[in-house]
Amino acid sequence: MDFLNNFIDFTRKCYNDEENNIALHVPNFIGNEIKYLNETIKSTFVSSVGQYVDKIEKSIQYYTNTKKAVAVVNGTAAISVSLRLVGVKKEDEVLTQALTFVATANAISYNGASPVFIDVDIDTMGMSPRSLSKFLKEFGLKKDGKVFNKYSGKRIGAVLPMHTFGFLCRINEIKKICDEWGLPLVEDAAEAFGSKSNGISAGSYGTVGAFSFNGNKIITAGGGGVIVSNNLSLMERAKHLTTTAKKPHQYEYYHDEIGYNHRMPNINAALLQAQFESIEILKKSKSKLFNKYRSFFGQYKKHVKLFPIPETTKDWNYWLISILFNDKNDKDNFLKKTNSKGINTRPIWKLLFELPMYSDCYRDSQVNAKYLQDRVVNIPSSAI
Ligand SMILES: *Cc1c(COP(=O)(O)O)cnc(C)c1O
Repeated sequence: MDFLNNFIDFTRKCYNDEENNIALHVPNFIGNEIKYLNETIKSTFVSSVGQYVDKIEKSIQYYTNTKKAVAVVNGTAAISVSLRLVGVKKEDEVLTQALTFVATANAISYNGASPVFIDVDIDTMGMSPRSLSKFLKEFGLKKDGKVFNKYSGKRIGAVLPMHTFGFLCRINEIKKICDEWGLPLVEDAAEAFGSKSNGISAGSYGTVGAFSFNGNKIITAGGGGVIVSNNLSLMERAKHLTTTAKKPHQYEYYHDEIGYNHRMPNINAALLQAQFESIEILKKSKSKLFNKYRSFFGQYKKHVKLFPIPETTKDWNYWLISILFNDKNDKDNFLKKTNSKGINTRPIWKLLFELPMYSDCYRDSQVNAKYLQDRVVNIPSSAI
């Protein structure tokens, strides 16, 4: 009881706000947002073309140290197109995790493929390379340069791990397994823009990586996503596919396949460019908040602890801060009380096979995913 009231007081103090709702995560507009938006409106180039689309693509290419970035309309589209780029087709299976936001699996479904759920590691909350390797040894069959699931008979098209709350999963080990099996690796780095390890950016390890810049992410375009890769021909195709597959011409309409209208409008790119310029300030501010929480939760170690930064993540973006309860009942009580007192907290996602559309998908033991689902709660994490 003491803990609950102290937590509410403490959080209100961190945000210097005694009365309003404290959201889980809000955007911070502390830079050139208004300036760039005004410029964009004055220029009239608010839509499909404009300098800010090129500019943000260059910014993110340099920041992630990749060969090319392509801006798209949201993170879900970024993942879905990324899967198509690496060759995922109808009737394929894609190996992913059940402990993730629903968009990860939806992006697989949009390609006519189905997810297979591999367990996560307990410290990163991202795909476990051990479980991945175990699954492939048991189910995988290499034939004619492809990999099949020998029980379902379906082709395995790609591996799609997710970097939960900005923590890097064991991406180097996962990449090694993918290379051994000849499987493309797509990173759902929707939550991990700004996270790095030894200078290497989340999203830049795989064949292709996808970021989200939705309103709740560390920086936002209003709505937006970006695809990155070191494979230039894949990225050329990414641009082509996401801009209606139109052949460049001064005035003729010629489209050489069924493309998507998935481009990021220039006005969103302008907002994102301004946000991008503040990324290091935001990370620093959020790291201060994390350290404050660390000293607060230090007193309550027996029942709940601040979720520690895993060793995989030398440079975390501090996107969403979590706590880990020992007892499931304490967790439920905490969620009820804090939300009723205007402090937004939320449990980690339901495992995706608990949702009706994914209930038939194959899954392994899910021991760690279940453990985390019962205990992890996100707490207010906006920059202070
Ligand atoms: C936010 C998010 C997405 C989807 O991004 P949108 O921009 O909202 O479409 C995908 N995967 C994960 C893990 C996310 O957190």
